[in-house]
Amino acid sequence: AKRDRRGGVVVFNADQAERLDRQRQVEGALLSADLDHQLFLLYQPIFDIRDNRCVGFEALARWHDERLGLISPGEFVPIAEHNGRINLITRILLAKALSEAKTWPSGTYLSFNLSPHDLASADTMLRIISLVQASGFDPCRINFEITETAVIRDFAQAIESLALLRNLGVSVSLDDFGTGYSSLTYVHKLPLSKIKIDRSFVSDVNCRPASAKIITSVLSLCRELDLGAIIEGVETQEELETLKALGAQVVQGYYFSKPLTPAAARSLALNAGAA
Ligand code: C2E
Ligand code: CA
Ligand code: CA
Ligand code: CA
Repeated sequence: AKRDRRGGVVVFNADQAERLDRQRQVEGALLSADLDHQLFLLYQPIFDIRDNRCVGFEALARWHDERLGLISPGEFVPIAEHNGRINLITRILLAKALSEAKTWPSGTYLSFNLSPHDLASADTMLRIISLVQASGFDPCRINFEITETAVIRDFAQAIESLALLRNLGVSVSLDDFGTGYSSLTYVHKLPLSKIKIDRSFVSDVNCRPASAKIITSVLSLCRELDLGAIIEGVETQEELETLKALGAQVVQGYYFSKPLTPAAARSLALNAGAA
């Protein structure tokens, strides 16, 4: 323990110090890394459980740094949002995703996560549009996932960015639905195509009656508003059975598959098409 200026003992929290140190390392690496080569994507299948078909994949970012090893997006995305690297990361990842998704059968869509900082940057939005157009990948097969944080930051700018995307012909889904503060306000004010119901509702669907009721009402809200609904984070057969009984149609989660390498995703997509 150290002494502070007034002579009192500062409780030295080793965990906190370690975390801060790691954060600095990741931040430093992020600035010097050859992100073009070190970033890659895994693809988690999205299933229609009415016919057990893989209808699309969500692209999930991974970063492999030589010194730090594999770093999850939960760790590096917030840091990149803080130091301004996120826009570049989005562009690198989207280019990769579009070229990998081009090898999928035509019925399979690509779902790609955008950061609130991407929607806040007019320049980034224009570059995203150029990337999509230059790729030759049908915009109808692209879905961008956004969170309500994007909208809270700057409502007018977010609306403008979403309008650009919808004009491009892509669909847009609201991610992590139910975890924010005023999701319902946004659902009807934004040009959305789908809602992704957060996995926190699924994980206690069998032990908290309220969670099942919330899922039921969100599913019915989606039907009323003509929005697609995707349920995230299905981990067990039991959860799946309950969700089926509640009327779920499109789901995603470890029970079906972890995020897959591009090659594994491609062969799943090809098999799903043949079945
Ligand atoms: P998210 O968009 O909500 O993505 C879902 C996360 O849940 C992924 O973690 C996925 O691997 C994980 N997951 C999927 N099924 C299950 C399940 O059944 N159980 C559990 N416990 N987890 C499941 P991941 O890949 O670590 O990504 C974490 C977050 O990082 C994402 O949450 C998203 O917010 C962000 N992220 C990932 N890729 C990108 C990206 O390319 N761009 C941006 N801006 N953010 C990204
Ligand atoms: Ca997502
Ligand atoms: Ca989510
Ligand atoms: Ca999330």
